[in-house]
Amino acid sequence: MVSTTNLKTTKSEEIFDAAQKLMPGGVSSPVRAFKSVGGQPIVFDRVKGAYIWDVDGNQYIDYVGTWGPAICGHAHPEVISALHDALEKGTSFGAPSVLENVMAEMVIDAVPSIEMVRFVNSGTEACMAVLRLMRAFTGRDKLIKFEGCYHGHADMFLVKAGSGVATLGLPDSPGVPKSVTSNTLTAPFNDLEAVKALFAENPDQIAGVILEPVVGNAGFIPPDAGFLEGLRLITQENGALLVFDEVMTGFRIAYGGAQEKFGITPDLTTLGKIIGGGLPVGAYGGRRDIMSMVAPAGPMYQAGTLSGNPLAMTAGIKTLELLQKPGTYEQLDKITKKLANGLLQIARETGNAACGGYISAMFGMFFTAGPVHNYEDAKKSDLSKFSRFHRGMLERGIYLAPSQFEAGFTSLAHTDSDIDRTLSAARDVMSSL
Ligand SMILES: *Cc1c(COP(=O)(O)O)cnc(C)c1O
Repeated sequence: MVSTTNLKTTKSEEIFDAAQKLMPGGVSSPVRAFKSVGGQPIVFDRVKGAYIWDVDGNQYIDYVGTWGPAICGHAHPEVISALHDALEKGTSFGAPSVLENVMAEMVIDAVPSIEMVRFVNSGTEACMAVLRLMRAFTGRDKLIKFEGCYHGHADMFLVKAGSGVATLGLPDSPGVPKSVTSNTLTAPFNDLEAVKALFAENPDQIAGVILEPVVGNAGFIPPDAGFLEGLRLITQENGALLVFDEVMTGFRIAYGGAQEKFGITPDLTTLGKIIGGGLPVGAYGGRRDIMSMVAPAGPMYQAGTLSGNPLAMTAGIKTLELLQKPGTYEQLDKITKKLANGLLQIARETGNAACGGYISAMFGMFFTAGPVHNYEDAKKSDLSKFSRFHRGMLERGIYLAPSQFEAGFTSLAHTDSDIDRTLSAARDVMSSL
């Protein structure tokens, strides 16, 4: 545990310097590079439970959880042991395996909207495929997404796409043809009137609406009362599909995701992160009549060499089994509540304008008085204050996502005393922001 502000990260710096010559920005995914908070990223050596260790031997309490999958804690012994057994049987079959049936049944049992499911290799891939399916099923090309929501990096979603893009200050990405995004309509999150207007302006042209039912990629932004219900109604009235991107929220804010938590059933759902238990995975699923269009049952083509691979299925199955134990979500709620409320209270007591909240194992805090209902509101946050907060916490052994526009994650491995240590670090840092 780092208890002083003299964090020694010599080896991290050496490795990251070398990485920058080898890989663009030194990373395999942009937000990891700490661009928005400044300073160099920490190079990890190993992870276990609620903790990570860097290459210099510093230990941190982790609230990133490899961006979501580590809800049972990193390297859970039961997941590791199941993976050892699976490894002996080979790493990829490229053919049917019973593990896919087991995993599919678990997903279908858990997620209200899912009657059939297709496994892929990432959340990006799941969202790409679900959009093709929305278009194939409705025979319409247009799509509504919300400002600040991230649905992976496929061309047609790279419009007002949240954290990574926001953090880098890129409104869009070069290389995305206008012709591809011209069918992507955007509305502010929590704004039903804007959605209604888009439907009115584009009659019979909109295939559907996709959203993060609880936003995590513009910071943590929950839906206002009535927003999800409203979207369900508007899409139905217009013969369009409603798609929940639950890559982040699935099995995190409830076992059955946001759709279980809020009691709104979309037509289609994308999943990822937790269902891979730390291995690369994604999935999309939904109504049987819609999913029956997917090849080879139907004409909508989508395929994958490593899809449904036995290691990802094994880690996913074991992770969901662990989450099924009684009291799991109560425990996640209790820990996260203590953390999220504690942070807000400390902000108040130290005179820092802040707002935020939590649902189950997902939380967030913006350095603005708020309230934050959408991405425009979130952007009012004091980003330089967040950077100082992030650095201060890092120096005290607390690893937070390196962007104001990311949600935080807790896990079953986080203990009361981890939260106490986190809050005492936060008090220390916020007193001198
Ligand atoms: C992480 C994420 C994705 C992309 O998943 P990858 O596995 O990183 O491709 C898509 N949608 C949401 C809501 C996400 O949080």
